[in-house]
This record gives sequence, structure tokens and C-alpha cells, in this order.
Amino acid sequence: MCNVGRIFDIQPYSVHDGPGIRTTVFLKGCPLNCKWCSNPEGIREKPQIRFFPDLCRTNCQRCLDQCKKQAIQKEKDRICLDFSKCDLCEEFSCTLLCYEKALRVCGHDTTVEKLAKKISLDRSFFGEDGGVTLSGGEPFFQPDFTNSVLREVKSYGISTVVETSMFAPFETIEKALPFIDFFIFDIKFFEEKKHLEYCGVSNNIILENIKKLTKIARIPLLPRLPIIPGVNDSAENINGIAAFLKGVGLSYINLLPFMKLGEGKFEQIGLKYHLKQIQALPSQSLQKVSQCFSEYNITCI
Ligand code: SF4
Ligand code: SF4
Repeated sequence: MCNVGRIFDIQPYSVHDGPGIRTTVFLKGCPLNCKWCSNPEGIREKPQIRFFPDLCRTNCQRCLDQCKKQAIQKEKDRICLDFSKCDLCEEFSCTLLCYEKALRVCGHDTTVEKLAKKISLDRSFFGEDGGVTLSGGEPFFQPDFTNSVLREVKSYGISTVVETSMFAPFETIEKALPFIDFFIFDIKFFEEKKHLEYCGVSNNIILENIKKLTKIARIPLLPRLPIIPGVNDSAENINGIAAFLKGVGLSYINLLPFMKLGEGKFEQIGLKYHLKQIQALPSQSLQKVSQCFSEYNITCI
């Protein structure tokens, strides 16, 4: 049992992370590196700095004097952060001095008890269907912590959902199953080469885990497909995914239209966003994807 884990956000009143109204906890660290990630601040395992230039309105320059690494500089009267020079000095001292919250630490440690207690305070708005969702990052990247939180939250009688990439040893997933009420997993590509190119890792383990999970799970399993125009919406990929899901006995899928939710966040943590040119998916294309799944008797949500 692991008592301490690392999270980077808690979002109450979430309505897209499982049934009903939920409190979503975002765990830090993910083995994938998807180019369209909506929460890139969750990829890195360690805490990191996040800079919101628009909030630096007073231009007080307290951070400038504080940074011994010259990572913070002034250019044309504006504060700039050179992420390559920032060594994340131990106390993130610049963030403590930034009263405007333009500089923030992303990621902090918490205990299972503290987190479960905090979640339990939201019970009044969960209603019949709601509860807690563990997301990320990748929840199974901190397997013992995830397991302990699920167990603890269930002891309060709260319903649990996990949102996962499925990139984890299957034993880890299997161990957590008794404490999960609803399971959401991503499936982005059928073809391994494309998965490697856009997500940074092979999808072999993901597909294998889905096959194993569908054989033993007795809870609702919801596959989710983020549709990235020109990247994974080809007929070949959609047919591959549809045939695979049909083969493992799943008859529905949640389609997520591309929204560039993470674009600003990539810049706030000093990373380049590579999908700037991609436009939102036209509704006819979404219908085409949906039509393709229906040919395999798979319902799109
Ligand atoms: S975290 Fe430390 S090294 Fe990084 S910018 Fe702030 S003061 Fe400088
Ligand atoms: S401490 Fe914050 S508000 Fe002041 S100059 Fe630095 S970033 Fe801007």
C-alpha cells in the first residue's frame, strides 16, 4: 500500500469524465507523449513550473531578482521565462513571490487519506450516478497510490471511474479492478507505427490489455477515441479500430472531436505544440467516422 502520490489538479463538477457529476483527480506522470494531449502538464512525473504571461500584469519583477539561474528575464518590458535555464530550484522560489499567480508550481504530493477526505466533501453533488474519476496523466503510472485511493474512496461508498491509456502492466490494472465501477480507456490508433509516431510508444501492450480486460471485467467498459483530423481519422484506422472492438465484444465507443484544449498549456510549460495547423473536424467527417463504426454494429456516443 502506498500512502503518498502526486497529483496536479482536482476538478469538481466534471460532467465529461464518466456517469453523472464527478470530482476528477488528475495524477501526475504519463508514459505516453501524445501530440494533442489536453493535459500536457500531467506528462512529466516531477513537479514543474507553469507560466501564465497574461497574468503578469503588475510587472513587479520580484521573480526576476529571485531567480539565481537567470531563467527569468525581461524583454521589452515583459517578463519571459527561459525553461531551458530553469533548474526547478527546490522551493520554486519565484512562484512563492508571484502574488499574481503568473508563476505556479504544477504537481504536488498528497496522502491517500487527505485526498479521499477532500473528495468525500463533494458527495452532496454526486447524486445517484456521480462520484470520483481518477485521470491524468496516467493513473496506473502510480499504481499503488491509485489502488489505495480507489480502495479508500470506495470505503466512503463513493462510485469510482478510471480514465486510462491502458499503457501499464496488466497485473496493475487487474489489481485495481475490484475497486473500479466504470472503466474508460483510450484507443487512438490500430496501427503500431502511427501510435509510435504520435504517442511516443507502441500500442501493442494497449491492445493486448484491452483484450485481456474484456475477458474478465464485469463492469462497464467505455472505449474513447479522440479524432484528430488527418492523423487518425482515415478509413483504414477507423476500420481497424472498429474490427478490433467488435472482435473483443465491445459495441459502443465515445468519439471525442479534436479541440486543441492543450495548445496554450504546452506553451505555459515551455513545450512546442505540433498540431497548430490542424483544424476542427467538420461535422460531415464525424458522421463518416460514425457511419464506419455503425457498419460494425458499434454505437457512437
Ligand atoms: S523555479 Fe527556480 S530556477 Fe526556475 S525560474 Fe523559478 S527561481 Fe528560477
Ligand atoms: S513575480 Fe509574477 S507578477 Fe511579478 S513580475 Fe514576476 S511573473 Fe510578473
